[in-house]
Amino acid sequence: MERHQAPIGVFGGTFDPIHFGHLRTGYELLHLLRLEEVRYLPCRLPPHRGVPVASAQARLEMVRAAVAGQPGLVVDDRELHRDGPSYSVDTLRDLRQDFPDRSLCLIVGMDAFLGFPDWSRWQEIFELAHVVVARRPGWTAPDMGELEAVLEQRQTTEVEDLHGAVSGRIYIHAVTQLEISSTAIRQMVSAGQEPRFLMPDETCEIIKRSGCYSGRITTEDTNR
Ligand code: ATP
Repeated sequence: MERHQAPIGVFGGTFDPIHFGHLRTGYELLHLLRLEEVRYLPCRLPPHRGVPVASAQARLEMVRAAVAGQPGLVVDDRELHRDGPSYSVDTLRDLRQDFPDRSLCLIVGMDAFLGFPDWSRWQEIFELAHVVVARRPGWTAPDMGELEAVLEQRQTTEVEDLHGAVSGRIYIHAVTQLEISSTAIRQMVSAGQEPRFLMPDETCEIIKRSGCYSGRITTEDTNR
């Protein structure tokens, strides 16, 4: 019999910069869902917000430094090689070509999941991958609107379902909540403070050395 291949976790984000909220979420899901690996994919141009403050190269370098030597956590830079906005559906289609028979689990925070109906060709995502939603403990569902019917049809609480099919299910899990955001980190650095203990030391060092958040951060940057 063919050996069962564990699912691959796909964690996209701007990572401007990456922090322990992103890392802890990936780590917990890696083990809980028995994933082969969690791939962090920094996007080139996020479709739903302004241009990132740090360059693609600096963001990639920070993600690489953050996961270096961490078993099961890896970097995938494919979105940085594609022109135009980084739509998840295109990324998943690309991954599906590389892994035709493998279960793929797109990992998103609850905030991102609630914005799904605004994502490009979002319904196609379920044909390409499962969706794993990281939610805050104690969080209760707001009005899900369009998502309600999708949840009813696709939600599962069984990890096995993510192994048994290659796409199509939604799994919601409460990860340890760390109230850290990239926006707050950029503001902190811009104000001359160090983001120590909010991210790995290696990532902190890159921020310091490159000065990527040292300029004045505009209101537009801080509000988004
Ligand atoms: P920003 O403050 O610039 O909006 P962010 O901290 O939300 O950034 P992103 O790179 O936009 O980081 O997020 C990538 C993914 O990580 C999204 O799915 C988001 O929901 C999730 N995420 C962000 N912060 C956390 C956190 N503290 N804990 C768990 N997941 C998070």
